[in-house]
Formats: sequence, structure tokens, C-alpha cells
Amino acid sequence: MFNRRKNKLMKGTHANLSKGFITGSEKTDWHNNALWFLRAKRDMQRDTIPDWEKLRATAAAIKDHTLSRLPEYLQRFEENAIKNGIQVHWAWDDAELREITASILRENNAKSVVKSKSMLTEECGLNPYLEKEGFDVVDTDLGERIVQLRKEHPSHIVVPAIHLKKEEVSDTFHEKMNTEKGNSDPDYLASAAREALRKDFMRADAAITGVNFGVAESGTVVVCTNEGNADMGVHSKKTVIHCMGMEKLVPGYKELAVFTRLLARSATGQPVTVFTSHYRKPRPETTEHIIIVNNKRTDIFEDPEFRQAMRCIRCGACMNTCPVYRRSGGHSYHHTVPGPIGSVLAPFYGKEKNKDLPFASTLCGSCNNVCPVKIDLAGLLYRWRQKLTDETSPDLSKKIGMDIGSKILKSRTTYSLATRAFRWVPGSVLQSGLNPWNVTAKNGHKERIFPDVPGESFREWYKKNQE
Ligand code: SF4
Repeated sequence: MFNRRKNKLMKGTHANLSKGFITGSEKTDWHNNALWFLRAKRDMQRDTIPDWEKLRATAAAIKDHTLSRLPEYLQRFEENAIKNGIQVHWAWDDAELREITASILRENNAKSVVKSKSMLTEECGLNPYLEKEGFDVVDTDLGERIVQLRKEHPSHIVVPAIHLKKEEVSDTFHEKMNTEKGNSDPDYLASAAREALRKDFMRADAAITGVNFGVAESGTVVVCTNEGNADMGVHSKKTVIHCMGMEKLVPGYKELAVFTRLLARSATGQPVTVFTSHYRKPRPETTEHIIIVNNKRTDIFEDPEFRQAMRCIRCGACMNTCPVYRRSGGHSYHHTVPGPIGSVLAPFYGKEKNKDLPFASTLCGSCNNVCPVKIDLAGLLYRWRQKLTDETSPDLSKKIGMDIGSKILKSRTTYSLATRAFRWVPGSVLQSGLNPWNVTAKNGHKERIFPDVPGESFREWYKKNQE
């Protein structure tokens, strides 16, 4: 009777909110396992390199060295790229990146664009801006294309659609591309996407790529993909734009080799990415542009406590191992880059609006152990907690919730009575800002869902299941 009433009260709350989110124990476990699979593959690859720890230490030292002489390396990179015939642009912030990109496209009469994966353009809101300006933009990385069709953001920086099961992808493809209803065979879905994307590649006027590394000694940009989609665009379009964050520089090819050994192994547990493409000069009768983007990177660079975050090569290993990320998913972080590194970077993009993120961690330090450039992620998250508590407005309702919670937890009787009473609260109230413990709803982050209160306590369950 109790459970019946409770189920009735809860009915509809999660179902309405769960679209695209990681909710319910089944999907949570599935997501957790999918990420852990990548972590386990990474461990296997690590074991094939006897000097793995030395490689990580070398990578961290190269990054620190490059960052300590960043203006010099940026200048060298620019000079060499210009010598190679590439046009170099500088974008101070996200708005400048958007404007420069749009003006290059207009100057070259480009109306449609194929774009390979770039978290930088995601960070700068390039797609919505270009679409608003009348350009047709197609993301060509399969995972990115799936989330683009669903009008979602990537939930992971390397595997953007990791939050979706193949059945959900099948439904999306059926709705948007008219594929066979209910056919969730991965080969069928991949070939349907390939066929559609091939047409997009053929008709597009320009290509945009992200950049994994910029080599200062040659002015080359290096783009790593598993699908070859960046190459399809760069090799077939007359106008090519590479968008590069200013922290992506490495001094030369010798240093680059350290990172190419670490990147794919840390990211997906592959020995190497399928395509590691070096773009050095434009093909005849084409124009090639590199936009070097700051967008708050100098703020991070100038902060001695947080500068090490600029070492990040966006491999995603810290997400794959994080127990919070694995069970909550990337959309729960409400910042472009999710997971541990995202929570370290986010306060630079708004302390007040992102003040909750450094607290969304167990500080277990697993991210520190896997990071290929040895960023002390747990230490930086802890430091942010101290700083944000001092520098942002106090969350009064959270404080009240904690005070009530501590009073309840002090006595076994009040705890038992309170948990019983809690089960009778309607689901709609638990999901709303009226619930003092539902910090996320109060902050307007609908991506995180307050969990269902179980129908019985652990003691009740244990009594029943003892035998
Ligand atoms: S912080 Fe380290 S582990 Fe996380 S994405 Fe960056 S390089 Fe990879």
C-alpha cells in the first residue's frame, strides 16, 4: 500500500526529465561501465609502455616549458605558418572567433561548412552563431553529428555521444534521416550516417577543424581523428579554417612525439589515433586559415596556482575514471568541458554561475593518477572550494539544508522519523527548488535529477532479505 502510494506520487517526475540524461539505475550502471571500459583499455595500453611514468613527467615538463615561453613560441608558430602560406588570425575571445570565422566564410562566398570535432568551437558557441548568420553547419564526427541532430551538447570531450544507447541513436536517425525504425545495428547506423555525411562533404563550400597540437618550429597544425573526417574536409574544400586554443603549442616534432604517444592511449586506450594529420600549407588555389584563440586562457596562464591546468591535452581520461562523472554524465556539469578538468576551468568563465562545480567531486584523486600531463586535478578542485567559498555569495538555502541535515543525523530517532516522512513527499516537490537539498534545481540546472527516494529503508530491506 505504501509503495503503491509512493509510486503514484513519483509517477512522471523522472520520466519527464530523463530525456538524454543519465537517470535511473540501469542507465547509470550502463554509462558507468561504458566509461570504465575506456579506462580499462587505457590501463592495458599503459602497461605496454615500460617508461609510462617517465613519459608523463616529460609531457608535463614540456608543457610547463612551452607555457613559460608562450609568447615566444606563439610568435614563432605564426611566422612559420605565414611563411607556409597560411593566414593567421588572433581571437581575443569567443565573440572574436565567431566573427572572424563568419567573415572568412563570407569573403570566400562559402554558405555551407563541414566541421570536424572541436571543443574550442563548442566553447565559443560557433555553431549556433553561424546558423543564426545563415550558414549551414554539419558536424562530421559521428558522435558530434548524433548530438547535433538531437540538438544537444557533447557530453564528453572525446566521445560526445557516450551518454546515448544505440537504441536512442536509432530513434534519432529514424526521426531525422528516415532510417529503418527500430534497427539499432551499429554497422547499419554507421553506414547510414556515412552515406548522409558523404553528401554533406560533397556539397559543402568550406571546412573547419579543431587542432590537437600546433608545432612552433614548422607552423604546422596537427589534428587527430579516428574517422578521417577532418581530412575529408581539408582535402576537398577550397576554404579551410583551423581553430586552435593558444595552449595547444609544442616547440617541435620531437616534443610532439611524446604527446602522440600519450594522447590516444590515455583517451580511448588505442596505441595511436587512426589519423594523425599534419596540415602545413594550403593546396594550390585554396586558402587556409588558423585562428588562434585566447578566450580566458591568459587569465588561467597568469594565475600561478591554476596555470598547470593549461597543460591539458583534452584526452578525457580524467572523465573516464571519475566516479562522479561516470555515474552522472557530462550534461550534469553545465559547462562545455565536463568532468574534473572542466570543473577546474569553469570558474574562470564565471565564478558565481560555476561555483557548484568544484564541489561535484569526491576528491578521490583517481583523475590525478591517469592524467597524462600530471595535472593535480584534485588539488586544484580543493583550492577552488576554498577560494569560491570566500569569493562568491553564500548559498543560504544550502546552509539551511545542511543545518537541518546535521540535526537529523545527530539522533537515530529523528533520522528514522525523517527518512520515513521523506518517502511521503511528492516527487514533484523533491525535484523542485522547494527541496533544500536539491541544489541543482535551485540553481536552474535541470540536467541533474534528484534521485528517487527508495520505497523502503535499508533496515526494512535487510530484515526482509536476511535469509
Ligand atoms: S586534465 Fe589530464 S586527464 Fe583530463 S582531459 Fe586534460 S590531459 Fe586528459
